[in-house]
Amino acid sequence: MAGLLDLAQCGYCGKAFVGAAGGRAICPDCEQEVRGLYDRVRLLISDQPNRMMYAGNIAERLGVSEKEVLKLVDCGLISYSSGNSKKLSIDG
Ligand SMILES: [Zn+2]
Repeated sequence: MAGLLDLAQCGYCGKAFVGAAGGRAICPDCEQEVRGLYDRVRLLISDQPNRMMYAGNIAERLGVSEKEVLKLVDCGLISYSSGNSKKLSIDG
């Protein structure tokens, strides 16, 4: 019988933690930081005419590293656009 809790690996810091099965892969330590960054990225992308943007441009605008932006992809919060696989999109 499958349990409701599962061991997951945080997409942000890489630490293994116990989380809800099928839930987002973000550990409790990173949750707040990731949420904060995600909100800023989401606002920025929403501002674009076609709602997609290069990770490098996002990083530059927000003053964070591109690596941090791409971690949001690892966490499953944002994804590469289906129309332009080099750009990130919030609508998938
Ligand atoms: Zn973490």
